Amino acid sequence: MENSKTYIVRYGEVALKGMNKPYFERMLIERIRKVLRKYEGIQVKREDGLVVIHTREDLAESAVIEGVSKVFGVDSISPAIEVESDIEAIGKAAVDFMMDLIETRGVKTFKVEAKRSDKNFPIESPQIAKQIGAKILKDCKVLSVDVHNPDRRIFIHVRRERTFIFGHKISAFGGLPLGTNGKGLVLLSGGIDSPVAAFMMAKRGMLIEAVHFHSYPYTSERAWEKVQDLGRILTAYCGKIKIHSVNLLPIQEQIIQKCPEDETTLLIRRFMMKIGERIALDTGCLMLITGENLGQVASQTAEAIVVTDEAVHLPVLRPLIAFNKADIVKKAQDIGTYETSILPYEDCCTVFLPKHPKTKPKLNAIMQSEGYLNWQALIQDALDRKETVVIYPED
Ligand code: ATP
Ligand code: MG
Repeated sequence: MENSKTYIVRYGEVALKGMNKPYFERMLIERIRKVLRKYEGIQVKREDGLVVIHTREDLAESAVIEGVSKVFGVDSISPAIEVESDIEAIGKAAVDFMMDLIETRGVKTFKVEAKRSDKNFPIESPQIAKQIGAKILKDCKVLSVDVHNPDRRIFIHVRRERTFIFGHKISAFGGLPLGTNGKGLVLLSGGIDSPVAAFMMAKRGMLIEAVHFHSYPYTSERAWEKVQDLGRILTAYCGKIKIHSVNLLPIQEQIIQKCPEDETTLLIRRFMMKIGERIALDTGCLMLITGENLGQVASQTAEAIVVTDEAVHLPVLRPLIAFNKADIVKKAQDIGTYETSILPYEDCCTVFLPKHPKTKPKLNAIMQSEGYLNWQALIQDALDRKETVVIYPED
C-alpha cells in the first residue's frame, strides 16, 4: 500500500492450537480491528503465521502499539518496512532504515539478523545478514558492526510475498484472544486482587462480566465509583464490561443478628458466592472468578476456602491463589489498576469486620448457622434490587 505504515504482529501461542487455529486467528484479527476501529484507513490481515496491519501514514505509532499490545493473543508487535523480496531492494531499504536511525537516534553500531521463511529465496539466512551488513557498512560510513552489544539490531525477514525489515519487537501479554474461552463472572471488589484476577482470566480468552457487593449507606457512592473506574481500566483489555451492583446490607444485618460473630465474614462470603452463581447462571457466565490468595487473610486459609467453595456448584477460578502479594501488586501496576485500587474507600467486607474471625472454620458449623437464616429469600431479595451498568472502552 502506498502512503501507509506497516506493522507486523506475532502470535506464537495461537499458532499452536492445531485444529482451532483458524478460529483463534479470526478472533485475534477481530480484536485487533476492534481496538483500531476508531482510526480511519486501517487494514488488518493474516499472512502466513503473522498478522499484518496497515495504517495511514499520519497515524502515530504509539497509538497503534498502545492498542494492539493490549490485545490478548498478541506476543509482540513491530513497526516494519515492506519491500519486494529481492536482495537489491532489501539492501536499499536497509540502508534507508539505518540512515534514519543514525539521524534520529544517533545509532553508531548495529547488527543484522536475517530469517528466510521462503526457502525458494536463493540466498540463505546467514548470507543475507552478511550481504546486507556489508551494504550498510559501505553506505553508512559512521556505522560499525557490533555483534554482541549493538546500539540497534536490524531484522530482515524474507517471506514469499515480500520482505519485512524492522528494528525492535514490543512485547505484549500473549495469551489467547478474548472470546475464545467462554465468559466468567468476576467478584469485583475495590481491592488490588480481583481486578488482577479478571485480567488473568481474560488473558486466557475469557470474556468478563462482574458483580460488586456494597453495603450502602455504610459504603459510599464514591466506593462504587471506584469500582466502576477499575472496570473502565479493565475495558482496555477485556472490552466492554457489565457490572452488577448488589446491596448486601440486609443480609449482613441478618447474619449479625442471628449468627456467631466469628463466622460473619465466612457467611457473607458464602452469600457473595451464591448470589454470584445466580447472576452467572442468568447471564451465561460459565464460572466464577475471585482474587482469593491462599493464606492472605483469615477468610482465605485453606479451611476457609473449602467452606466458601462449598457454597456453589459452578467452578470457582482463583488465578491468584499461589501468587506472592508483591507479584500481585506488580501485576496491578503493570495493567494500571493499582493506583485506583489503593484509594482508601471502605469495602462491604470491612464494614462489619468481626474482631476474631475464624481461621479454621468447620463446614458443618457454618452451614448450621446459615440454617438460622432464610437464605433463599434473602438472596432473591438482593437480586431483585440489583442494579447494572455497562462500561465501554474509552475512545
Ligand atoms: P481484593 O483485593 O480483590 O479486594 P482481598 O485481598 O481484599 O481481595 P477479600 O476481601 O477476602 O480479599 O476478598 C476475596 C475476594 O472476594 C476478592 O478478591 C473478590 O473476588 C471477592 N470480593 C471481596 N469483596 C467483594 C465485594 N465487595 N464485591 C465483590 N467481590 C468481592
Ligand atoms: Mg477486598
